[in-house]
Amino acid sequence: MVATPIGNLEDLSPRAARLLGEVALIAAEDTRHTAGLLRHLGLSVPMLSLHEHNEAARVEQLDARLAAGEALALVSDAGTPLISDPGFVLVRELRARGRRVVPVPGPCALVAALSAAGLPTDRFAFQGFLPAKGAGRRGRLETLAAREETLVFYESPHRIRDTLADLATVMGDRRVVLARELTKTFETFLDGSAEALLARMEVDPDQARGEFVVMVAGAPPRQEDEAAVVEGEALLAALLAE
Ligand code: SAM
Repeated sequence: MVATPIGNLEDLSPRAARLLGEVALIAAEDTRHTAGLLRHLGLSVPMLSLHEHNEAARVEQLDARLAAGEALALVSDAGTPLISDPGFVLVRELRARGRRVVPVPGPCALVAALSAAGLPTDRFAFQGFLPAKGAGRRGRLETLAAREETLVFYESPHRIRDTLADLATVMGDRRVVLARELTKTFETFLDGSAEALLARMEVDPDQARGEFVVMVAGAPPRQEDEAAVVEGEALLAALLAE
């Protein structure tokens, strides 16, 4: 499972580059996209497409090659395979068959975004992509509104404004950090309430272009939880005294 760059090609690890040149076959989300990376590396390695529509059907084929002693790599278009990308069915099936599956770690947009956002990272909940339609998206956000850990979403430029508008409706003026175009020329971090970020995009529409990781501060701890803790501590003190 080989992680590849999310923008800056220098982020490909030497180990990933070496392994991509050593394997017998690279299973790639989009072989045309990965051909560009291989060209950059000066490699010519056979490829096979593996995407959400053919993943289950590829399992037998790839398993047979592993059984024959070949080493294979899986890559997605960008970042770490399986993270909002294909590969889960393949890995589950290969592991069930006792095959060795190893990570070759590297870029991952959500981790890169969290590492530079200045939001708490001791606990976070990665939520992938929100539902595409408004009602579904707001419903999902409502189920998450009370969560106290940092929330992390992936978002496309087509929906970023709608998502910010729904965040403003459901989460109010909670702090949002938008990490845009990570590792690329126009990398930007925007920080503020969802409403303030929307206003910023009105003034500067370029801020709505590119790829986004949306991070939302967790809900403040609930009052009743604090009350329960105080009550629990009082009870514990009384029991200890006994
Ligand atoms: N597997 C990838 C990873 O490890 O991050 C994620 C793949 S997912 C299909 C693509 C989404 O990841 C984009 O819509 C965006 O939300 C996020 N993303 C990928 N590259 C990014 C970048 N350079 N800057 C910001 N977000 C990025």
